[in-house]
Amino acid sequence: MLVTTFPVGPLQCNCSIIACPETKEAIVIDPGGDTEKIMDYIKQQGLTVKYLLHTHAHFDHILASSDIKDLTGAKICLHKADKFLYDNLQGQGMLFGFKAKKPSKIDHYLSDEEQVSVGNIKTSVLHTPGHTPGSLCFTLTDKNSLVFAGDTLFNQSIGRTDLPGGSFDDIIKSIKNRLFILDDSTEVVPGHGESTSIWHEKKYNPFLNG
Ligand SMILES: [Zn+2]
Ligand SMILES: [Zn+2]
Repeated sequence: MLVTTFPVGPLQCNCSIIACPETKEAIVIDPGGDTEKIMDYIKQQGLTVKYLLHTHAHFDHILASSDIKDLTGAKICLHKADKFLYDNLQGQGMLFGFKAKKPSKIDHYLSDEEQVSVGNIKTSVLHTPGHTPGSLCFTLTDKNSLVFAGDTLFNQSIGRTDLPGGSFDDIIKSIKNRLFILDDSTEVVPGHGESTSIWHEKKYNPFLNG
């Protein structure tokens, strides 16, 4: 399996690309900007992108989604509870002082425990509301040791919950009930910043101790 993560866009959102080495089919998680950087990697590796999965619909995770869909034909997928944010991409952009295009239509709504496959790779969807109502995490099931956590869980921090639709109680519940039941050795790729592990966060995350 091919897995790579690199920061993109104005807030350096971690964009991840996972691909099946046999079929070269791929999933892009959180194409939050820098369309060219993402497309360069896709072309270099000769990948066919099937799905664009979004951990949530804040602008810094969806800025390049429409362009990459146009260039690859991949399907835009997110949780329905974040549709209000997705539809308001231009409004979100205005708040942060940049212009965004009207986003392409959503192709598929992801639901809890759904599996998305490309080639021999399967990723499972966990609905983890709190940072936004439709926040999702994605685990790799054939290698149950990696979770893409979006802005739900960071290295020794958690996502902010003071934005529209956020809930502190929900994010804590989501992390404890959905992420902390994963194996301690599971690597966590957060929406921003350094990777961590479930073990490390159980032990050192100040929001989740005690
Ligand atoms: Zn966010
Ligand atoms: Zn973010």
